[in-house]
Amino acid sequence: MPIPVPVRVVVLKEIAPGEARVALTPEVVPRMVKSGLEIAVEAGAGAASRYLDAAYAQAGAKVESDRASLLGSADILVKVQIPTAEETAGLRAGTIVVALMNANRNLDKVAKLRDQKVTSFALELLPRITRAQSMDVLSSQATVAGYRAALIGADLCPKFLPMLTTAAGTVRPARVLILGAGVAGLMAIATSKRLGALVEAYDVRRAAGEQVRSLGAKFLELQINAEGSGGYARELTDDEKKQEAEMLAKAVAEADIVITTANVPGRRAPLLVRREMVERMRPGAVIVDLAAESGGNVELTQPGTTVEVNGVRIAGPLNLPSQLPFHASQMFAKNVEAFLKLLVTPGGERVTDFTDEILAASLLTRNGEVAHAPTRDALAAAK
Ligand code: NAD
Repeated sequence: MPIPVPVRVVVLKEIAPGEARVALTPEVVPRMVKSGLEIAVEAGAGAASRYLDAAYAQAGAKVESDRASLLGSADILVKVQIPTAEETAGLRAGTIVVALMNANRNLDKVAKLRDQKVTSFALELLPRITRAQSMDVLSSQATVAGYRAALIGADLCPKFLPMLTTAAGTVRPARVLILGAGVAGLMAIATSKRLGALVEAYDVRRAAGEQVRSLGAKFLELQINAEGSGGYARELTDDEKKQEAEMLAKAVAEADIVITTANVPGRRAPLLVRREMVERMRPGAVIVDLAAESGGNVELTQPGTTVEVNGVRIAGPLNLPSQLPFHASQMFAKNVEAFLKLLVTPGGERVTDFTDEILAASLLTRNGEVAHAPTRDALAAAK
């Protein structure tokens, strides 16, 4: 019996500006090696998230510095962000790439993966089904983003968040309003509550109300239900949008910190806070627009920076998970470890049919074709 050649999994150092995460951490390496994988990590890949080369080596990974040879020898390349055209050019046809591709915003890089005949899986396309929860990178990274957003809001706010009774007088708790109570919003609620703020939240999905209340926050109710398929929101009608805007304008005007996290998958983020609403806010109030990357929930947001309008500061941070890279990478790595179990059997054999529901949904390119129909259509339209 020939000894099977182990599947070589390569981890590259992320080179996108501002990206401090790494796709695998030393913690997951021993389990992956035990299941028949060879793990090769580019020297310095974990440095920005505080995972050192020595820790990878001790865990059983090979630490190598030659990028070209790492790329050329990879059976599976795991990354946080979609490979650059140069990285893809170094891969052999048939190499598997697993990353957060943000395919609709990176069409040129997807085309390169297609033309290089790479088999790529986009982690953002994973179905939100129970079996995929352990691999759900969108959820794990949204958890980090929601936490960081609450801290940014507290940091920019000129007030205490908790109620205080001191010899120097009594301080009233700050009011925090969270718009969009999905994964990131719930984490922002929990974090703001722990800091002692009075927290209110709103989401178009009524089901979110129970989760909001279970965290000790108040749920703002509107007499509509906009739950679409798969647990996501559908777009609101014009009349529903008007009712929503009236209720939100009042809540926004009373808040010290507003954290917006509303998204509708595959679309521009809904515009929830218009200029007039910001003008009604108190000086010193803060908005953290977590949807800055997908167009923004706030009309005045400038992605990647903080602007001040009438004494109200509006932060539009990009790539928040990268601001907490140690735990963001730890969670990402666990997600990737779980996903790779679908691609390589416990005995170390490669899966080649990709009929599994999770693999089929997240397959982006294969054999010189774009497998994901909306991305294929977007590429055809962009020609
Ligand atoms: P998301 O990032 O796409 O959106 C964030 C939130 O914005 C959502 O709760 C959405 O309802 C809300 N929103 C959209 N339009 C809005 C508007 N106009 N006003 C206010 N809020 C608006 O979503 P997400 O956080 O990734 O997940 C959303 C849902 O999916 C949650 O219920 C979550 O529990 C569920 N989920 C399920 C699984 C699973 O079963 N595997 C995994 C992850 C998430």
